[in-house]
Amino acid sequence: MIRIGAHAVVIGASMGGLLAARALSDFFDTVTVLERDTFPEGDVPRKGVPQGHHAHGLLARGREVIEDFFPGWTDQVVASGGIRGDIAHDVSWVGHGVTIKTAPSDLQGLLASRPMLEGHVRRRLLALPNVRAIENCTVQGLATGDDGTAIRGVRVKIDNGAEQQIAADLVVDASGRGSPSLAWLDGLGYARPEEEKIEIGIAYTTRTYRRRPGDLKGKLAAVVAGSWPNWRNGAVLFQTEDRWIVSMGGYFGDHAPDDEQMYAAYAGSMPTPEFHEIVANAEPLSDFAIYRYPANLRRRYERLERFPQNYLVFGDAMCTFNPVYGQGMTVAAQEAALLHECLCEGDADLARRFFSAAAVAIDTPWDIAVGNDLRHPQVVGPRPAKVLFINWYVGKLHMAARNDATLGNTFLRVANMQASPTRLLHPAIILRVLWGSLRRRGRANAEVAQAGAKA
Ligand SMILES: Cc1cc2nc3c(=O)[nH]c(=O)nc-3n(C[C@H](O)[C@H](O)[C@H](O)COP(=O)(O)OP(=O)(O)OC[C@H]3O[C@@H](n4cnc5c(N)ncnc54)[C@H](O)[C@@H]3O)c2cc1C
Repeated sequence: MIRIGAHAVVIGASMGGLLAARALSDFFDTVTVLERDTFPEGDVPRKGVPQGHHAHGLLARGREVIEDFFPGWTDQVVASGGIRGDIAHDVSWVGHGVTIKTAPSDLQGLLASRPMLEGHVRRRLLALPNVRAIENCTVQGLATGDDGTAIRGVRVKIDNGAEQQIAADLVVDASGRGSPSLAWLDGLGYARPEEEKIEIGIAYTTRTYRRRPGDLKGKLAAVVAGSWPNWRNGAVLFQTEDRWIVSMGGYFGDHAPDDEQMYAAYAGSMPTPEFHEIVANAEPLSDFAIYRYPANLRRRYERLERFPQNYLVFGDAMCTFNPVYGQGMTVAAQEAALLHECLCEGDADLARRFFSAAAVAIDTPWDIAVGNDLRHPQVVGPRPAKVLFINWYVGKLHMAARNDATLGNTFLRVANMQASPTRLLHPAIILRVLWGSLRRRGRANAEVAQAGAKA
């Protein structure tokens, strides 16, 4: 590995910041992660990561990247109570109103609580000799050189003390959706990046339940992405051997109530029975938690013409979208792998190279998750021909995938960021989609004819 500099600083020690720090640790003498929170004693949710109370699963690509960075990490999570799962075969996926047929695959994901996933990454990261973290450290702003063209460090308050400066050769903002980078750049005389904001008004209401052998017919999870005419979303995921986590929610105020009976009724309205099976019959093990998710948000840093040197924006601070397909941590992992690749080429023009590569990685999960939101008639947002085509085609693919595990597995491979979306347009896949649609139409016509004959 080449040496890029003496000191890199990362703002935020959630999944994005921790993985960015791991990538940087191969190129800087010292990496310091600055976190506003105190790290909790055990693997429990903390204030700065409120989504830690809600269902999280790690997709195959994310698990692979983290495993490459920290060999043996998956085994450690499993030893603490998590479980590996075949994303295709062990999970029931409902999208476009149908459950897709799947077959065993090599898409190995990981199911464990969000705090447990993060806790294991944090411990492995901080065991590296050149990485340290400062807790209770709130970053207040950036420090620049005299002409403002390069970032030289950050201004922080530790334990609410007086403001002080930490010098750095590179600063990475991984402070999440509320990232102050836009305001900071503004203050330094740089243009703000274009923001794509698609309001969806979702809230997820979550509770954990006792897991019993035989629940979900042996599957480890069920995931529903809302679709006409039932737009409710949700996930039931394995948390530990004896615990399920259930998150459910709908668009524009159609939220799951935090009341036992009404929550069970909401579960009964989901398009697949797994939610009601657990919520109505299993012992609740926690209170309800609610996470409001107002909008998908993408900041187009790759389109900026001027950007300060020695500065990057990372993870949810750059892009965050409806988590129903469970892709956020995998996008952060993918960005960390790309950052590593970019640094292997040195630090010249780093921001432009990193933002361009990250934008390509973000495109697919954004198109899948936000594309599905844009099918909702109340969601306001641009629907160019590309979005309309993707939604139309992915809808047809789902219909055909009801009976065709090859199609189901191909879609999941793309959603898991293990294959390029062009894979969905391979001639063999297009033929299967067409064949599935024709068979469906043939069956529907036969049913109409049969009904007519009976009448
Ligand atoms: C309800 C819900 C469910 C989800 N489910 C999944 C899932 O199943 N699978 C999946 O892969 N992803 C899921 N995600 C997305 C996932 O949680 C995020 O993508 C992931 O945490 C990466 O975020 P991040 O590290 O970039 O930012 P965040 O997790 O938001 O972390 C930001 C960090 O920065 C710190 N911070 C903020 N400001 C400052 C400051 N000024 N100074 C110092 N520190 C600061 C915060 O305390 C925090 O630790 C879900 C998200 C939600 C909301």
